[in-house]
Amino acid sequence: MLRSPRQLPALARSRPHRSTSVDGALNSHPREGGWRPEAHGDHNGSAATPGSTVHPRVSRPAAVRLPAPYPATVPILVETHPAFADHLTGPGHPERPARLHAVELGLASSDVEVVRATPRPARREELERVHTPVYLDAMQRFCAAGGGALDGDTEASSGSWDAALLGAGAGVDAIERLGRGEATAAFVAVRPPGHHATPTTAMGFCLINNVAVAAAALASSGERVLIVDYDAHHGNGTQDAFYTDSRVTYVSLHEWPLYPGTGWLDQTGEGAGAGETVNIPLPARATGDVYLAAFDTVIAPLAARVAPTWLIISAGFDAHRADPLTGLALSSGDYGELTARLATLVPAGRLLVMLEGGYDLQALADSTASTISALGGATMLPEPLTSGGPGRELVDAAARLHSR
Ligand SMILES: [Zn+2]
Repeated sequence: MLRSPRQLPALARSRPHRSTSVDGALNSHPREGGWRPEAHGDHNGSAATPGSTVHPRVSRPAAVRLPAPYPATVPILVETHPAFADHLTGPGHPERPARLHAVELGLASSDVEVVRATPRPARREELERVHTPVYLDAMQRFCAAGGGALDGDTEASSGSWDAALLGAGAGVDAIERLGRGEATAAFVAVRPPGHHATPTTAMGFCLINNVAVAAAALASSGERVLIVDYDAHHGNGTQDAFYTDSRVTYVSLHEWPLYPGTGWLDQTGEGAGAGETVNIPLPARATGDVYLAAFDTVIAPLAARVAPTWLIISAGFDAHRADPLTGLALSSGDYGELTARLATLVPAGRLLVMLEGGYDLQALADSTASTISALGGATMLPEPLTSGGPGRELVDAAARLHSR
């Protein structure tokens, strides 16, 4: 299925029966607006979205490789939780509860069939694979005392600890469900995001490193994990967590220079993890063709070497050209195309997509729609693919560096 931009106008116009105006519904508080994700599915992961039918679970041996892209009839697992709205960051903060409402609108605008499941909190031993006990205890106490500012960017509230535990647990829960054959891929929409959180520090809107906790769970059970982080910011926390670890390969495409300032080409891992960290720093205004070149010349050859048994995507949609915090120039369609290519790197049922950033609500909704469509084997282009921006020389440099 191919939808041209003409066939698919902006979300607000394509779904008149839903209130999808960016300035209206998207900016209202989810609780105030009556939107509650748990009402869309039961607690066993067997219910579908409103207006769609209930689909049987898909059981598929792990070794069977479906042709890519997957057939559009195969359901995708979606996990989110109303408690993510209880992580409050204060007036005017870009990482706000309305973001997950935008994600829901994006999911609803796609024709991909989904199965819903409610995440569980991460267990202490799962968190301690990434974070120190001292850090975890301090964060829990800080939130229990009402929270506040952790640094100039990062806020926590009394509800943030429970939200963070569910955010980290959602990834592990989705992995377990995929392992049982419940879906062919998972899209997990969480707050707070995670990829800046280091083993010992909250930063960059992040408290617990959700993707790292998920990757560590897989690695601990003998899986070979590839993480691809296409958030506009470098995932310094994820890099730190696995910098000396041979079991997890971390690839980041990010704007540079930009917060947090890490992620240059020569950060490639150390010790047993030497060569397992791949940074592709890109200049502002880089476009989708640069990202696809990075897939073709860096990521695909890397995956051929690593032979990952699982892929986790740190899905930050703040590389969109409309994002207020960054200067990259992707469209929502680019996210779908990139995700479709990444999905070919692992067998069906071994792909977890976890939300990171993305602060323009319409861009977030459209990019979610394009991405979830790609997971379902469909092409949905709310906006055309982009090309012509700078950065190809950085991709070429990364390709040379990592082909040695
Ligand atoms: Zn970001």
